[in-house]
Amino acid sequence: MKILVANLGSTSFKYRLYDLGDPHEPMLARGAVDRIGASKSKVSYSSGKGKAEDEVPVADHGEAVRLCLQQLTDPTLGVISSAEEVAAIGFKAVHAKGISGVRRVDDRLLSAMEEFNDVTPAHNPPYVRAMRMLADRFPEMPLVAAFETGFHATIPDRNRRYAVPNDWATDHGVLRWGFHGASHRYIAERSAQVLNRPGLRVISCHLGGSSSLCAIKDGKSVATSMGMSPQSGLFHNNRVGDFDPFALPAVLRATGMSLEQALDVLATKSGLLGICGKNDLRDVEQAADAGDSNAQLALEMFVSSIRHYLGAYLVELGDTDAIIFTAGIGENSPRIRAMVCQDLGAFGILLNSELNETGSGERKISSADSKVEVWVMPTNEEIIVARQARDLLSGTL
Ligand code: AMP
Repeated sequence: MKILVANLGSTSFKYRLYDLGDPHEPMLARGAVDRIGASKSKVSYSSGKGKAEDEVPVADHGEAVRLCLQQLTDPTLGVISSAEEVAAIGFKAVHAKGISGVRRVDDRLLSAMEEFNDVTPAHNPPYVRAMRMLADRFPEMPLVAAFETGFHATIPDRNRRYAVPNDWATDHGVLRWGFHGASHRYIAERSAQVLNRPGLRVISCHLGGSSSLCAIKDGKSVATSMGMSPQSGLFHNNRVGDFDPFALPAVLRATGMSLEQALDVLATKSGLLGICGKNDLRDVEQAADAGDSNAQLALEMFVSSIRHYLGAYLVELGDTDAIIFTAGIGENSPRIRAMVCQDLGAFGILLNSELNETGSGERKISSADSKVEVWVMPTNEEIIVARQARDLLSGTL
């Protein structure tokens, strides 16, 4: 069964095609359309047969998918003989009111996502717009949404509920839903394969443009740092992370901002960007090295927020087998990994600085005598979405 996994941005469409009929689950091809709607969109494609790049106008996401199917069936570089070979398009969907897990995309699901547009303003609106267009243009193609919240359905109520009146939780869905579910699920499954111990307890540190930690016990999420929205928990490249809502009235009164304007600042101009004016960690590290004290503060605050949840999850799990770093920062910044693990010998966490600073790809970076193993594991959210779409279609979910 061949599954196309789509990653949608407001003006971009990226995809990977997997063959899940093959036990090795190979990625057959990948491609991207950037600057959708501009006079020239950037189109790229690669498969085992070669690569192609082009600049052509691509009006909307429907047109981008049509182009993708054309590339996949191209007589020279294509990997399938007809679009009917694609069993489904899987989406890493973020949040919907009253719906989680893995579902076929239909009107009810799209309306439920729209109901949470203001909870996930950066994610839901472009996804809903594009999914609606694709459902319209390709009515014969099954569309499957794998929600980021799904992996966290196992979090017990003591870690899932906010201390608000019960009806906020039961009637309005005000819960710690958690996100990055595909990534944390990948880490849960991969660490179970690699460490191969019963009842494995791991802390998955997904550190990227947005970041979250997840405590995983025997393959199941038992706590995670993001809550009702992906704006919460650790802070992010430009999003605030945990914040006291009672600070808002003071800011609104003093600045004359509306609630919407203040929420926009919290969702797009805060995090690393708010603290030091740079939202890519590489730029923050560079600025800190050049003596920028705000950049240095941003690094220290980011690490403190990670260690805050790390400490909580070491206690939550009791006896942790491994800490796993993943995503753009987790996989690529030895400095952040070293700062996170600094002076944690009392907790049985000993990083090997040479292993931390050298090597690439999946690897152990703790010392031989570290009780808790520390690993870098490149995440693969797309293969999780592809497997979930397959399982839904074949009725094995
Ligand atoms: P992601 O959201 O997982 O794609 O991660 C993207 C983020 O990873 C970027 O915004 C950077 O902040 C960070 N990143 C990528 N490469 C590096 C690197 N070599 N060193 C430090 N941070 C990096």
